[in-house]
Amino acid sequence: MASADIPDPATNFKAYQASLFKALVSATSAANALPPNDLGFYRSLDRDFAKNLDSAGSRVLDLSNRLLQQASNDTGIVASKYEDIDDVVDRYGSAVDVMDSLLEKADIWLDEYLGRNKKNDDSVKQKAPEVAQISAKSNSGKLEYKYLHASNVVRPQLKFKDRVDNLSSTPFQRKIVVKPHAMVPLDHGLSADAMETEDGIPRSLPHPYEYEIHHITYPEHMFEKREPQQYLPFDSTSATWVDNDESLQAMMDHLRGYRELAIDLEHHNYRSYQGFTCLMQLSTRDEDFIIDTLELRDRLWQLNDFFADPTIVKVLHGAESDIIWLQRDFGLYIVNLFDTYFATKVLEFPHHSLAYLLQKYCNFIADKKYQLADWRIRPLPQEMLDYARADTHYLLYIYDCVRDELLEKSGANENLLRSVLQRSAELALTKHEKPTYDVETGLGPGGWSGLLRKWNNPMNEQQFAVFKALHHWRDHVAREEDESTRYILPNHMLFALVERMPTESAGVIGCCNPCPPTVRMNAQAVALLIQRARMDGLRSLEEGKSKANQAITDAAAAKPEVTTVSSARKQAKVVQKVDPATFDLEKVNQQRQATAATLTKPMSVLFGTDTSSSSASEETAKQLAEEIRSTIKLILPIDTLKIKRVKSVADITPAAEEASAEHVYVPAQERVTTPAKRKENDVIVVGHFPKRSKNDKRS
Ligand code: AMP
Ligand code: MN
Ligand code: ZN
Repeated sequence: MASADIPDPATNFKAYQASLFKALVSATSAANALPPNDLGFYRSLDRDFAKNLDSAGSRVLDLSNRLLQQASNDTGIVASKYEDIDDVVDRYGSAVDVMDSLLEKADIWLDEYLGRNKKNDDSVKQKAPEVAQISAKSNSGKLEYKYLHASNVVRPQLKFKDRVDNLSSTPFQRKIVVKPHAMVPLDHGLSADAMETEDGIPRSLPHPYEYEIHHITYPEHMFEKREPQQYLPFDSTSATWVDNDESLQAMMDHLRGYRELAIDLEHHNYRSYQGFTCLMQLSTRDEDFIIDTLELRDRLWQLNDFFADPTIVKVLHGAESDIIWLQRDFGLYIVNLFDTYFATKVLEFPHHSLAYLLQKYCNFIADKKYQLADWRIRPLPQEMLDYARADTHYLLYIYDCVRDELLEKSGANENLLRSVLQRSAELALTKHEKPTYDVETGLGPGGWSGLLRKWNNPMNEQQFAVFKALHHWRDHVAREEDESTRYILPNHMLFALVERMPTESAGVIGCCNPCPPTVRMNAQAVALLIQRARMDGLRSLEEGKSKANQAITDAAAAKPEVTTVSSARKQAKVVQKVDPATFDLEKVNQQRQATAATLTKPMSVLFGTDTSSSSASEETAKQLAEEIRSTIKLILPIDTLKIKRVKSVADITPAAEEASAEHVYVPAQERVTTPAKRKENDVIVVGHFPKRSKNDKRS
């Protein structure tokens, strides 16, 4: 193409981009039409072809050296020039790595500049969230799910007064400062003895209402039979939105005098490591309140006046998480809990969900499609407010109904109501602990052993080492960035990396589609991590005693974990102090080279051709070297460019709608696996190779 045809990027960038793209497509398709293995053959046949090849080679060498120079200028890394075209082939991967990460970083910082990223500070005003509704039919075709997802939410954590602390080496710091309705003071049980640390790991403080819950006297009205009190009609009432001191005070004034409160919470845990409560729904017999817990996070402790009051029944359904979230986020504790879930158990109902109770007693069909909605969205759409309100609006009536049934069915020897209260009280005693991480055993709720058990495909020594390394990396980064591990690197992508074990950033990005931002940003570090883990895997294979296999067997044999207070305590003891150097790029690189040196024999295993010796280490190292080498290719540093070979032009399908790059959480069973859709800028190569002569039987 003559340079006169190339539009000026300064005046018409779109046209320039289009022409650049066109050139790239034709270059790529031309390159793809070349049979690399047969070049020597054709060269020997045709002198002109040989000449052309040489001149193209020297142009590539020149261009590559300019690219390398650019990469060195931009990073300050001194790189030696490419000597010849073989040198380019051998070392091009490293230049691409640098260019890739520079481009990725530019991309991410541009997003940041445009306000699309999380690192916005308080001063950046939140834009109206773009609420995208994605409808998907479930496999049965009966239920329609709608996932509400906002892409423009400023991280609420930025506004939190309490600092997010995801370190596994420090215990949870309880938030309670004042203790209403106390039978024993707040510092009860905080003797030096109880606080003694084991294995140098400090313990979290005890449950502040342990004594009160154990010594509760339930109010008599809870045991009296009574006609259930009808709820107010849902449609002609509305919820009061509580998001400031005045409305909070007004709500608390209203709450005074009620004997029962219905409570529920909505939570977000995708863009956060431990999650946070977004909403609290609170209903009395007369009113529904919806509290913006993102706004009032540091002031809701005042509700202990009601929540810790033994004379007020707190009715929740399935409060296991709520109990944890209340103490973790607000320092709130419940004394006198009635969990309607336990009532469904004790009464041996066929189902135990709130939806079942709503249908049974209120003839209300709960629409659970908002369960997975992004509750950080503000202002909340009316339909989400309605959904949230329905979770507590009917709950006190349901309490009346199940309480009556419990009283009715209790015989002389068994008190079913007492049994529900007993189980509720045990639940209310649950203490929040920060999740720990044990690199060695993989035990714990977020550990690798649980995930490994779900993976049915076989894993070799190297893959197991890569799996553990990636899993640990993901947990570490998630804690540091305050993101969920599934945002950092979803399980299916982790396993894709384990299966293919790419040792270059382009390969890492290629395994993940759409590639999560953190993986893109750290693709090089991830590639090095994989390389190092592969070396480790090889070494442990050499050592003969396969510790890893033992761990796999152990993990497979381990029973599913039951998270109880005592198991949480046990886990707290095995907290591992993470060496930050594990994820230090430079150190990883050094270690990789050191390991490589121990495996390498006089000849270069990575790029040499010989090595006649055939010891196990030699063989495995050669195998690895071959694999690494096979991944080093000339790659255009544009990661969305995909090359697809079709037999004829007729096979080219029109570009499909581009999938969202954000990761909407979809439970495994709801996931629809469709073949990857082609993006508009995919490169389609209509392939035809020159046919080899039948006599030419080289392999
Ligand atoms: P609920 O008690 O049903 O109102 O649920 C409270 C919170 O638990 C929701 O806001 C979600 O964050 C979470 N949650 C409930 N059900 C699910 C589910 N099926 N999958 C994932 N998260 C859920
Ligand atoms: Mn709930
Ligand atoms: Zn709810």
